[in-house]
Amino acid sequence: MITKELWRRLAFVKRATGVIFLLLGDDKQLPPVEDEAIDDYFNHSAVKYLCNNNRNILTVMKRFNIELKEILNDVENIDINRFPVKGVFATPINIAYTHKTRKVVNKKWNDKLKPNNSLYIPVIEDDKKYGQDMYLYSGCPMIARMNDNKNGMYMNNETFEVVDYDDDVVYLITERPNDVGELDVHSLEVAIDSIQKLFYLNYCTTIHKTQGTTIKDAFTIWDWNHMSKKAKYTALSRGTCPENISIVGKYEEDDNNDNKIREKLNAYLQTDKEKGFDNDLTVEKVKTLIQKQNGECNICNCDLKIDYAPNDRQQFSVDRIDSRQGHVYSNIQVLCWGCNSAKGNRF
Ligand SMILES: [Zn+2]
Repeated sequence: MITKELWRRLAFVKRATGVIFLLLGDDKQLPPVEDEAIDDYFNHSAVKYLCNNNRNILTVMKRFNIELKEILNDVENIDINRFPVKGVFATPINIAYTHKTRKVVNKKWNDKLKPNNSLYIPVIEDDKKYGQDMYLYSGCPMIARMNDNKNGMYMNNETFEVVDYDDDVVYLITERPNDVGELDVHSLEVAIDSIQKLFYLNYCTTIHKTQGTTIKDAFTIWDWNHMSKKAKYTALSRGTCPENISIVGKYEEDDNNDNKIREKLNAYLQTDKEKGFDNDLTVEKVKTLIQKQNGECNICNCDLKIDYAPNDRQQFSVDRIDSRQGHVYSNIQVLCWGCNSAKGNRF
């Protein structure tokens, strides 16, 4: 993402020195978000000036595999069922369209992975639209909210990892290419009371902040149905192959999950009634228990699926620990269907 200010500086450098610029870009991606609505930014006068009105279009695709390229050619007609979500928590790398979804997904992962001795940093009171409570620990991913214009220690959208912290400072590292293209470790100390202002959690980020990055691991795209064609193209083209990509159409995961849990609870209630057992389960109680179990089966630790396909062994199921009692909260654990049926008491 190139800001208006940076374009202005580049044009100044060219005027002052006559230096030759070579600009590289993909015009199917989102325009620079910090600027006013310029649709055709490849034809903007500043871009043309910097490039001496020369434009070459490359036609051979090197970055993606053929299958992903074909998908990218027709992003508006994608069947998202081809990109199923993996597990309750999906993947630890996520792209969202809205800040709301970004924060929900970050919270899920932060809650799941925080150790007991993590460093809690509350959200700044007037920053609740973008910021959120954070629990920091070694390995926690962070992304810079802005440029460090004063010291150049971090750039907007640069990603870091927490390595340690003490009473005053959080220690972060990132890798940056040096002059010969090798990666050097670059470390950074940030005062604890500045972290919220300067960094976001980075289990999930907005599309605009991922521009320019390539994601080689599995990741999930949220809010697909809200996205413009360019946003879809940008989000999908972060990946390198279709198998690594999961897509969620609309962020109503919780509503949808609630319905799936309710369906099962109704069936349990029916059998408990028939057997004369107690039953005090609610959707909220089951969700709380799933969160407590980190979204994992209590026996095999697989990632439970709440929004599951029929016969999926990883679908969640509520197991009665003592089968002589009914489905009461003190007597249940959540298991994958595979483990539960192996136990021999399906209900
Ligand atoms: Zn299991």
